[in-house]
Amino acid sequence: MVGLTLASALRDRGLRVALIERGEGRVRTSLGRDCRVSAIVYGNVQILRGLGAWEHLQSEAEAIEQMRVWDDQHAGGIRFDAVEIGQPALGYLVENSRLQDALRRTLLMTDSVELHCPAEVARLDFDEDMVRIELKEGGRIETPLLVAADGAQSWVRAQAGIDCFQRDYGQKGIVATVRPQLPHRNIAYQRFTPTGPLAMLPLPDGLCSIVWSNMNAQADALLALDDAAFLRALNEVFGPVLGEIVEVGTRAAFPLRAQLARHLVRPRLALIGDAAHTIHPLAGLGVNLGIRDAMVLAQEIVDAARFEEDWGTLPVLRRYLRQRLPDVLAVMGGMEAFHRLFTARVSGLHLVRGLGMRAVGNSGAVKALLMRNATGLSLPVPRQITWAHRG
Ligand SMILES: Cc1cc2nc3c(=O)[nH]c(=O)nc-3n(C[C@H](O)[C@H](O)[C@H](O)COP(=O)(O)OP(=O)(O)OC[C@H]3O[C@@H](n4cnc5c(N)ncnc54)[C@H](O)[C@@H]3O)c2cc1C
Repeated sequence: MVGLTLASALRDRGLRVALIERGEGRVRTSLGRDCRVSAIVYGNVQILRGLGAWEHLQSEAEAIEQMRVWDDQHAGGIRFDAVEIGQPALGYLVENSRLQDALRRTLLMTDSVELHCPAEVARLDFDEDMVRIELKEGGRIETPLLVAADGAQSWVRAQAGIDCFQRDYGQKGIVATVRPQLPHRNIAYQRFTPTGPLAMLPLPDGLCSIVWSNMNAQADALLALDDAAFLRALNEVFGPVLGEIVEVGTRAAFPLRAQLARHLVRPRLALIGDAAHTIHPLAGLGVNLGIRDAMVLAQEIVDAARFEEDWGTLPVLRRYLRQRLPDVLAVMGGMEAFHRLFTARVSGLHLVRGLGMRAVGNSGAVKALLMRNATGLSLPVPRQITWAHRG
């Protein structure tokens, strides 16, 4: 998703882009929907609109108009409503495979992006002024800049010898599509439990997507249950907010880890998206950070090219780093604080949580600020790039 965003942002800008993708194989579906979904915050929807991807996606994207967050000790809850920030939605829920397709469609009309898929890199050689790339399938590419957008287990990052700061939550996120008895009314629900959060996110056709984070052993036990027993466990934890959850599709689980590469840039190399950082999915911000990385990097490359600067050099790449690091660190820090606040077993902490939620809930200004930050509306959009692609 993030690599495609960068390629899409760089198309028709007088540059040649090669996108190398090994191909993930068949999409895993759950009740007919991709079991991998992403909540795309409203600020990033504007970016995707500017890139021409949104028009291919919007009919299948479900608006998140409100969000309700509460914990399991009845200490308090908080509601966020898009109306409070004067927007039609806080964000939209999209299936990852559909987002990839929509971005790929923006590349159909250009010959400035070569798509190598399925393809993998066999060998990389970094020279002072060039990276030489050998593909396993045969063929060579020479480029002044290699961008690693190859996910949390980045092969390119490993080849460059870049380690990561890591925090393993000892948790897995169980994902699946479910059918609740009552309409979701475009509300995203997040319930915090001592073992991790359970999100119920609105999909089209009255369906919802769950992301249920649990300690590894519990997650494995939940995965081993048959559908009826899984639904009983889910209903017990989620409660009757949407009536009963009556159907669940195929389940999958992903290990949850926070990770930050020790270097996001090196001469001739930039890391973006999960290759650079991964966060706990509790706020659904991982790919949102990646989309912002891609747009800022694209802007810096285009600006450097315009002024005939070599965009693979550190002075240019550091401009990307300087703009992105504060946002990445703020979101990572926020996720860590949230996770600890809701999972630490310290007596009295639930009262602090309840007070905090009530304070935020009662203060329109604090809440609006939180929402503008979380939806990416407070961050500058690289306008030269998004405007360039408007019909
Ligand atoms: C349970 C869960 C729920 C989540 N929910 C949300 C959410 O609601 N909102 C949100 O913003 N984020 C969410 N995230 C995070 C989000 O999924 C990731 O941040 C996002 O997938 C990162 O995108 P990416 O393009 O950087 O990496 P990836 O999605 O990992 O893509 C990497 C790409 O590189 C390719 N690749 C890898 N290695 C090679 C190689 N050697 N050669 C060629 N190609 C290669 C892969 O095929 C893949 O296409 C969630 C994560 C989890 C685990």
